[in-house]
Amino acid sequence: MPGQLSTSFWADHFILSDHLFNSSVKSISVAHDVDNTSDPLFLELELTVARCKFNSRPMYESKPSWNKATSAHIDEYKRLLCHNLHEIILPTEALLCRNLSCHDQSHINHLDAFVTDISHACLSAGAASLPHTGRSSTRG
Ligand SMILES: [Zn+2]
Repeated sequence: MPGQLSTSFWADHFILSDHLFNSSVKSISVAHDVDNTSDPLFLELELTVARCKFNSRPMYESKPSWNKATSAHIDEYKRLLCHNLHEIILPTEALLCRNLSCHDQSHINHLDAFVTDISHACLSAGAASLPHTGRSSTRG
């Protein structure tokens, strides 16, 4: 098919996402090759995937580095984290729910948001206060 890439790989197992499996598998078969002297029979998976243009530059993401942090960095992290955590509105009703089998969607949503808020508080405090890895290590 024009604009598509078709190729084959030989292996004894494959792991695919549901999306790739449902959208791109052209055929699956067991190879009965007389030249194969090993025990396992090989599987052949034929995929048809649309051509993609990949960014050839390696992806690099600078991250906060605890190894480079001084006690001053850590003190600033603690101060920012404390500030960020105090900004979070507690989902009191959901936190006080004692139903171990609770299926209240609002409790579930509030607890999910609470976890996300705590995570964001930690990450943003770290991003703003700690030195970073690699190319951006001049921060902090
Ligand atoms: Zn509940």
